[in-house]
Amino acid sequence: MSTITVTSPLLPDLDEFHAMLQEIWESRRITNNGTFHRRLEEALAAYLKVPYVSLFTNGTLPLITALQALHISGEVITTPYSFVATTHALWWNDIRPVFVDIEPHTGCIDPERIEAAITPKTTAIMPVHVYGKPCNMDAIQAIADKYGLRVIYDAAHAFGVEVNGESVLNAGDMSTLSFHATKVYNTIEGGAMVMHDAAMKQRIDYLKNFGFKNEVEVVAPGINSKMDEMRAAYGLLNLRQVDDSIAARRRVAMRYREALRNVEGITFWDDMPGVRHNYSYFPIFVDEKRYGCTRDALYFRLKEHDILGRRYFYPLISNFSTYRGLPSAAPENLPVATKMANEVICLPMHHALTDDDIERTLNLIIR
Ligand SMILES: *Cc1c(COP(=O)(O)O)cnc(C)c1O
Repeated sequence: MSTITVTSPLLPDLDEFHAMLQEIWESRRITNNGTFHRRLEEALAAYLKVPYVSLFTNGTLPLITALQALHISGEVITTPYSFVATTHALWWNDIRPVFVDIEPHTGCIDPERIEAAITPKTTAIMPVHVYGKPCNMDAIQAIADKYGLRVIYDAAHAFGVEVNGESVLNAGDMSTLSFHATKVYNTIEGGAMVMHDAAMKQRIDYLKNFGFKNEVEVVAPGINSKMDEMRAAYGLLNLRQVDDSIAARRRVAMRYREALRNVEGITFWDDMPGVRHNYSYFPIFVDEKRYGCTRDALYFRLKEHDILGRRYFYPLISNFSTYRGLPSAAPENLPVATKMANEVICLPMHHALTDDDIERTLNLIIR
C-alpha cells in the first residue's frame, strides 16, 4: 500500500511552467525584481485582498525583517504553540521571547493572558494564526494600543483566511506568509510580508536587497532575502489552482468531521462562523483516558500503516533547549499549550488525497 503523507505540494502544470521559463530565459533576467516578481506581488495583493505584498525567499526572513524594520527590541510576547521559526526570528534579533498560553478553542495566543506578561521592556506582540485559525485580533490590538506595542502576525498558515470578508493579513502592523512546499500555497521555498502603506513596502524592499536604494546608496544594513523569477513564475501558476486546492481540502475536512464526530475521546474543531478557512491542517486531539490509548500509540499505529500524520506542535517551542530556561517557558505557565501539544495529531490533509486514502486513515482511528 502506498504511503499517505501529511501534506503534498501543489505543483503547476509542467508545460505551462516551461513556457514561462522560456520567457525568463529569453529576457535573461532571472532575479532582482523582474517581471514575474512584480506580477506575482500584484496578483497576490489582489487575491489576498491586501494593499501591499513584498515577496521573500522563504517565510522566516520576513519575520526577521519585520522585527528589524520596526526596530523591535527587549521583550516580545509570543506563543509557544507554533513552528520554531516564530521564536527563532526573535532570537536572531536579540529579543527575549516571553511565552503566553493559548486559547483552547483556537490554539492561538490567549489575549486574556497577555497583559500579565507585559513588562517595561515589552515592545511587541507576535501572535500566530495557528493552523490558519484566526487569532482574536480585536482583543490583541486593544492591548497593543493601550500599551503602545507593535503587533507582527506570523500568518504562515493563514493564506487566504478571511473573517467576515476581510483578510486576517490586514490586522496588526504587518503579517508574514510562508510559501514553503508544505503550505497551502507554495513557491517551493518562498514567503511574503504584507504591510499597510507604500512607505513601509519601500523600506522592506530595500531591506530585503541589502538596503540598496539605488546603485550608490545603502539606507540600512539589509539582508538578501529576494525571491527569484523562476519561483515567482511557479507562484503565478499555482495561484490559479489554489482555490480548487482549498475546495478539495475542504471536502477532506468534511469527511473527517463526519466520520470522527462521535468517536469517544477524539475531538477536533469545526469551522468558525464568518470565517473563510483554508483547511491548511486537520488537527485532532486524543484524550488518552476516553479514547483508550495514548496519542503516541495512535500516531505510531498510523505510521506502521504508512500514514504519516504529524505531531504539530509537539514539542512546544518553549521546550526546545534554547528556550527551556526562560521563566515564561515553565509548563505551569503554559497548561493549555502543554495539554494540546500532548494530545495533537495532524491528519493527512492535502488536495490530492483520494477517498481511499481518507478511509484508510479513518479506519485506523475508528475501532
Ligand atoms: C512554515 C512556517 C514558518 C517558516 O516558513 P519557511 O518558509 O519554512 O521559512 C514560520 N512560521 C510558521 C508558523 C510556519 O509554519
